[in-house]
Amino acid sequence: MFYANLTYEWLGPAIFVSAVGGFLLLYLHDRTQLAALRLGLAYLFTLVGYLAIMLAEGDLRPSNQAAILFSLVGGKFFLVWGVTSLFRTPFPKRTFGLLTACLAGLVVHVNLFNAPFMDRFLVVNGYAAMVNLMCGALVWRARTQRVDLVVAGLLFFQTIMLINRIIFMHVSHTDFSTLSAFRRSEFASSMQTENAIFAIAIGLALYARYSVTLMTQLKRLAETDPLTGLLNRRAFEARVEELRTISAPLPTGLIICDIDHFKSINDRHGHDAGDRALVAFARLLERETPENAICTRLGGEEFCILLGAVDDEAIRLQATHLRAAAERMRITTRNAELRLTASFGFCRLGPEGELSEAMARADAAVYQAKSDGRNLVRSAAASNTSGARLQSA
Ligand code: GH3
Ligand code: MG
Ligand code: MG
Repeated sequence: MFYANLTYEWLGPAIFVSAVGGFLLLYLHDRTQLAALRLGLAYLFTLVGYLAIMLAEGDLRPSNQAAILFSLVGGKFFLVWGVTSLFRTPFPKRTFGLLTACLAGLVVHVNLFNAPFMDRFLVVNGYAAMVNLMCGALVWRARTQRVDLVVAGLLFFQTIMLINRIIFMHVSHTDFSTLSAFRRSEFASSMQTENAIFAIAIGLALYARYSVTLMTQLKRLAETDPLTGLLNRRAFEARVEELRTISAPLPTGLIICDIDHFKSINDRHGHDAGDRALVAFARLLERETPENAICTRLGGEEFCILLGAVDDEAIRLQATHLRAAAERMRITTRNAELRLTASFGFCRLGPEGELSEAMARADAAVYQAKSDGRNLVRSAAASNTSGARLQSA
């Protein structure tokens, strides 16, 4: 029967292979996930270097050492690239270039391939520590999620451990002059365990960060209107309660608006120009309403805004302001400069009121504004849905 006599040494490569597999599977599932490809390659390069050291007999030949250096630099390059694409920060070309140039300079200057093992260890670990420190700093600066603290913390912790290794080797009396001597030391097995622990911890933390990024993207896609970037109706309904709770005991204000004769904008100037007009109108709503207002595209050329903690007069003033701003707006398209108007209906939504009922009342007020001649603001005064009484504003 087949029996693989594996030592704990194989734990490291097994973790690296799992990390490569995890990130590459993610990339193969969705080829736009380039950060996953880069992180997968980072682990692949590191795996090659790890195996080159692990499987080398006796001391390392220059060709082996060149392969190790190549995989070290390649691995770190892809780690930095993967991290910067995951955290959407620019690749630190200058710092990474400088660190790698220092490494190359040292390799040549001290004739590293023939130097004692300890010097080689110092150079390689020193480089890894500096790149890790840079990566940790990048993540720290770009942090937006709780998991980012874990990623940055682990990278900083590994940097400390790498520096600690270098110091330990210099103060210890153990013989580290050759790779064989190093391998026999307890320090070497502890270092391998440490490498395996960091590989799994940092790999999982990056994977967790990836999941958070993907979930955030999916949530945003599910909640926003792709054309205007405003919230869609479902997300609006989900957010309403939040604003009402903050505003209580004061009421919130609901404004619904519908662009006038929008069909004719499409007919005269084309669908693309119509899209531009919708985007411009959405930006106007965002620009001309308070920061805590919830602006939404209900569908087609119909929008709604919920204002926090307002009285009737403030809602009316806001709706009137938006109507005038829309009338003043100029939209530049390829062939023409467009203008548009919109009709507005508004009502108050008290802490106890029903959203659907308020929407129906504001909608009826829009209908009234349309039938009164468009480019107008109308208020729905009564709280009775059926045949809501409408007032001029
Ligand atoms: P009214 O003043 O009565 O509101 O007239 P209207 O033309 O604005 O209203 P109507 O409901 O007749 O037409 C709405 C038009 O909006 C029809 C539809 O093709 C267009 N529309 C809906 N969604 C989009 C979109 O995403 N892009 C573009 N370009 N047009 C859209
Ligand atoms: Mg319309
Ligand atoms: Mg409409």
